[in-house]
This record gives sequence, C-alpha cells and structure tokens, in this order.
Amino acid sequence: KIMFTDEYTQRAYDEVLRRNSDEPEFLQAVHEVFASVEPVIREHPEFRDAGVLERIAEPERLVQFRVAWTDDAGHVRVNRGYRVQFSSVLGPYKGGLRFHPSVNQSIIKFLGFEQTFKNSLTGLPMGGGKGGSDFDPKGKSDGEVMRFCQAFMTELQRHIGPFTDVPAGDIGVGGREIGYLFGQYRRIRDEYSGVLTGKPLEFGGSLARTEATGYGLCYFTNKALESLRGESLDGKTVAVSGSGNVAIFAIEKAQQMGATVVSASDSTGYVHDPHGIDLDVLKDVKIDHHGRIAEYAERVDSAEYHEGSRGVWSIACDVALPCATQNEIGADDADALIANGCTVVCEGANMPSTPEAIERYREHHVLYGPAKAANAGGVAVSGLEMSQNSIRLSWTFEGVDQRLHQIMDDIFTTCADAAERYGAAGDLMLGANAAGFLKVASAMTAQGL
Ligand code: GLU
Repeated sequence: KIMFTDEYTQRAYDEVLRRNSDEPEFLQAVHEVFASVEPVIREHPEFRDAGVLERIAEPERLVQFRVAWTDDAGHVRVNRGYRVQFSSVLGPYKGGLRFHPSVNQSIIKFLGFEQTFKNSLTGLPMGGGKGGSDFDPKGKSDGEVMRFCQAFMTELQRHIGPFTDVPAGDIGVGGREIGYLFGQYRRIRDEYSGVLTGKPLEFGGSLARTEATGYGLCYFTNKALESLRGESLDGKTVAVSGSGNVAIFAIEKAQQMGATVVSASDSTGYVHDPHGIDLDVLKDVKIDHHGRIAEYAERVDSAEYHEGSRGVWSIACDVALPCATQNEIGADDADALIANGCTVVCEGANMPSTPEAIERYREHHVLYGPAKAANAGGVAVSGLEMSQNSIRLSWTFEGVDQRLHQIMDDIFTTCADAAERYGAAGDLMLGANAAGFLKVASAMTAQGL
C-alpha cells in the first residue's frame, strides 16, 4: 500500500512509481526512504522548493554496456554491464560492482540509491554509485574470470576515475576480480591510481578492508545492544546467512566478542552447527577452495547440512545477521525467527528484509539495524583506502580497525539521535534514512540546480 501523509512526498513518489513501474527492488528501496523522511521534509520546506525528492530518486547517470569475452572453449560470450552514478553531491561516486546472474537495472539502481545514504552516514566524502554484470562467476575458470574482468573494464574505464567514480567489490567481486580490473585500467589509461578500492595489499589495498563489512556489522550490533538494552554480543547465539566475505568476517568478529555462531549458508542450503562454526574449516572451503557450504558439513561432525537456504531462519537464535542477499528474509522467515526467540536483526547484506518482514520486527520490538547503517563498514574502509592512496601511505591493521570501530559507533549514535529527534526513538531504520537523507538533501540544496 502506497500512502504518504505528506502531499509533496506522495506526489514525488507517484512520479517515481510511474517512471520505474517495472523495477520492484528499486521501488522498494525508494518507498522505504520516502516514508522515513516525511518528518524531515516537513521540517525543511526548502527541500521541497529545491525538488530534492524528485531529484534524489533519479540517478545522475546510468550506463549500460556490452561485455564480450571468450570462454575456455574459444566461444564468444556476451554479458551486460552496468554502472549507475547515483549522486555526486557528497563526493565522487562510490560503490561496489556485483557479478551475479540476477543483476539487472532494478537491482543496480536499488543498490546505488541505498549506497548514497549509506555513504552519507559514514561521514566520509563519498557520493553513491553501483555497477555490475549478469555474468555468473560460478563454475568459471580463473582465465575466464580474468578475460571477463578485462572486457568489463575496457568498457567501464571511460566512465570512472579516482576523482569521479571509484568502484569496489560486492557479490561475486573480491580481491581476485579487483586485481584483474585494476590491471586493465592501468594498462589502458597508463595511470596508477586509487580508481578502485578493495585492492590487494601489494598495490594500494588497505589492511582490514576484507574484514571491514563483517567486523563493522558486529561493532554496530554490539553498540546498539549496549545502548538500547544494556546487553552485548557476549554469550549470544547468532544465526548468520551467507558464506562470502561479509558472513565470514561477521562470524569471526562475533566469535571474538563471545557469541556462538551456529549457521552459515549459500544459495543451495545451510549448515547448522550448534557447537559453533569452525572458522578455519569455513575459510578453507569458501575462501581457499571457492567450494559449496555442503562441504563444510562433510568435514565437521557437529554440523548438519540442510537443503534450501531459507531454512537458516528456522534456527533458534538471539541475534540474526543476514549476510547473503536482498529480500532473503520474508514475512514467514521473520515470524519463524521471532517464534524461536530472536530479538535482534542487523543486516550485513543490502536490503535483506522485505517490507513485510520489517513490519514484523516492528510489531515484536525486534532491535532492527538496517543495512545502510549496519553494513556501512565496508564502504567506510574503502573511504579510508582512498585516503591512504591519496597520501601514499598505508596504515596498520589496528589503526584502520580502530577508525572503523569509531565510525560504526558514530553511525549508531547518528541514527539513534535522528530517530529520537523525529519522534521515533529506537527506530534505527527511520533514523538511518532521516540522517543519511538530511546530509544529501542539504548538500543538494546548497549546491543549487
Ligand atoms: N559493496 C559494498 C557495499 O555495499 C562496498 C562498496 C565500496 O566499498 O565501495 O557497501
């Protein structure tokens, strides 16, 4: 049901709906933000006069390109590439690249839209962007991945630069892919720059970037637990979905903080390990061998493998950390989580909860940490990587980790304060949207049309 109490917000949303009616994920993300920022709009008539809502939901630029490459059999293959440059009012466009068969314009636009507010919340000078391709890295050889990345960058390079647009990784794009992309950019442009983040350490990467999203998620969750409930992650039972970069380092930090993490998953199924995930085995399976989560259960006696990734939400837990993908928790999953004792959901993935699931969290007073606040640690350390590249220095792991921890604590405080200020104390989703928006909208207004 699409209803806003503010007339300008309704009008602006109607226009977004008319123009993007075939993009469900993008509409979902816009609807959530517009609903949250109504009190901000009422407080700032100048935003309405500046047309901020109409402008903010329309990307500054969207490029789509053909990516032609050859597979190991010598056959020509064609994929579709995208880069959305959503907003540059706060800094160069910044956001990851996703390589996954589900990638389409709606998904890239929802991610770029979310990224704009997430980056705003970090307090670092970064605009919002996102890109990717419907290329499926699963089952591809190293050579195929390299040739795809080279072909992708051959097209993308004309649109990016260290002061204009700085991509990084997302689903399907890790250190290996960033390495191939960086190499191709350097060859074509004849320039050695910090045009990508998430780079390997040997050529300008930042220590703690790999860990940053997962670690940051736990710092945020712990801070929220302390501030709102006088509790911590220590002693909690945690259910994690996913088994990629975000999930693995969320598990690592949660364990360091004294939690027992009992699950991990991939697109085919999940493992339940009541004794706590054995991180060495999980890293060996997923990072060193790019294997499936089922192999974890073959190697660890206490673990059971179940088919169907959504089953992970039927495990009894205190805290759920969805770290897989968008809309992975629907209403039924939220009901199952709540029925089995879960009272905290903090999002490592982007938009993992459907609007119906979020409604259940609200009804049952679940402590809900929305993605654009809770998973901002990844892009925050990307921002720190840009800083280090600019001054041609690299900071220690501890130095970066400390900054990350401070940024996550600050993001929590920013969200909690905004929620209170706009009459919704404890509603971190409203707080994140309101605070992230306020800064972008103020900058847009100040910079004129
Ligand atoms: N893909 C990550 C995100 O969703 C990181 C983006 C970046 O580091 O630029 O925030």
